[in-house]
Amino acid sequence: MSEDIVLTSFVFWFGAIWGSFANVVIVRLPKEESVVSPRSHCPNCQKPIPWYLNIPIFSWVLLRGRCRECKHAISIRYPIVEFLMGFFFAALFYRYGWSFSTLEYMVFAFALVTSSFIDLDHMILPDRFTLSGIVLGLLGAAINPDRAFLDAFLGVFLGGGFLLAIAYFYYVFRKVEGMGGGDIKLLAWIGAVCGIQSILFVVLASSVLGLVVGSLYMLKSKDGLQTGIPFGPYLSLAALVYLIFDVSNWTQWFFPISY
Ligand SMILES: [Zn+2]
Repeated sequence: MSEDIVLTSFVFWFGAIWGSFANVVIVRLPKEESVVSPRSHCPNCQKPIPWYLNIPIFSWVLLRGRCRECKHAISIRYPIVEFLMGFFFAALFYRYGWSFSTLEYMVFAFALVTSSFIDLDHMILPDRFTLSGIVLGLLGAAINPDRAFLDAFLGVFLGGGFLLAIAYFYYVFRKVEGMGGGDIKLLAWIGAVCGIQSILFVVLASSVLGLVVGSLYMLKSKDGLQTGIPFGPYLSLAALVYLIFDVSNWTQWFFPISY
């Protein structure tokens, strides 16, 4: 058991390092900049950050969220993304151990967190993530012995189709586009990785999350429903909850009947 904890902590740091890279991608990808060079630098004074100050979470805490050179404030979002990635990687490893699924789900978590923050910043879910995610998810299902291809294949159609239908009805009744094409592709991607059984849970859980966070946000900002909050992060979080926790029998929480 104690070896499990040591190993899981290592995986947490492994994830946090990927979180550090995710921060670079989140900032640079929408600007079409290279994600490998130049090396990490302060967004204000452009001074490069030495490797010993590029340790996930710790560096930010040690420097109290300021650049060492110019004392410019560095957003708390950087350590948050690093922590989230570490947490998701550790939790996935804890549940699935040394398996092909763990590898697949870590890639999935990395891409979901990264694209969610791009969605929060720019209200877009890049096709580069969603479309390649669908292809990679189907490919994974074909070679991963723990997943069934048909399950993933149907997941793509139910996931994509479900939101497409909602978007269609929303358009017919409200004459506005309520659901972005990116969300439709995202749910298809989730279907490819989490399978067809995940779709209903992900749709319901993300809607509940969206309603709760949206209401709190509205109370605070008082600018009404028109403020667009992207839906991608809720879908992503619901998909990760589905993978990390054993929610396969979630319907019984509402209908506690055994057959
Ligand atoms: Zn600086």
